[in-house]
Amino acid sequence: MSTTTEEQAPAAPAPGAIAARAVNAVKTYGEGDTVVRALADVTVDLAEGQYTAIMGPSGSGKSTLMHCLAGLDELTSGSVWIEGTNLTELKEKDLTKLRRDRIGFIFQAFNLIPTLTAEENIVLPLSLAGQEPDQAWFDQVVSTVGLGDRLNHRPSELSGGQQQRVAVARALASKPAIIFADEPTGNLDSRSSSEILSFMRSAVKDYGQTIVMVTHDPVAASYADRVLILADGNIVHEINHPTTDAVVDFMKTFGDD
Ligand code: ADP
Ligand code: MG
Repeated sequence: MSTTTEEQAPAAPAPGAIAARAVNAVKTYGEGDTVVRALADVTVDLAEGQYTAIMGPSGSGKSTLMHCLAGLDELTSGSVWIEGTNLTELKEKDLTKLRRDRIGFIFQAFNLIPTLTAEENIVLPLSLAGQEPDQAWFDQVVSTVGLGDRLNHRPSELSGGQQQRVAVARALASKPAIIFADEPTGNLDSRSSSEILSFMRSAVKDYGQTIVMVTHDPVAASYADRVLILADGNIVHEINHPTTDAVVDFMKTFGDD
């Protein structure tokens, strides 16, 4: 956790060190009596080349934190940074460009385009940005996620696990500063889950990729370097080098969830 004085104006993170940062992040929805504080006051640094899992009960602010860090939603107060850029100060057009060029996304529901082949889906974000895929990198990503003979298949011809491999390859293709994954294994059986989690783990280990993943699953969290636990819009606990047992033990303090 940060030991700096939170009252100071936030300095831009040093390049090459911090992939994403939130400083005194507050997000409220609604007004007056019905106001909901989704993020109470979150300050956190996410280091480059780290795999972070975000856990916590339903409604604790996990998705809100991730959406605000990824520039998909705006804070009520505070600031968020991707590498050296303060997203809170960006115009919509520049924010859209930064999201497209520097951020990768993986969703529970795969979110592939049904009429495109696996290969077309993987390079789609690059094509939309008017960029050529780096062929050597594309080949490496495809072989890492084990899609070699499936590249010409459409999503409907692939299993759930294979579809999520395509989504992982798509997220990696542009070499983003950070990948945000919202319950990426939520729709998968345990074997496909462990494959996807292993691919994400290798992307961190072998390519220095930074990944942030929301999960409810202590086994999934054990693949991460660090687990942040949210409750009522605050980070209440952190586990470094998590084991499944350590995560299960801590989550018991929340009762049912
Ligand atoms: P989690 O992902 O941990 O389940 P969320 O970040 O989705 O939690 O939600 C945190 C809190 O903010 C919850 O109380 C939720 O009901 C509320 N919330 C989230 N999105 C909205 C919204 N668009 N409008 C109103 N309240 C919202
Ligand atoms: Mg959520």
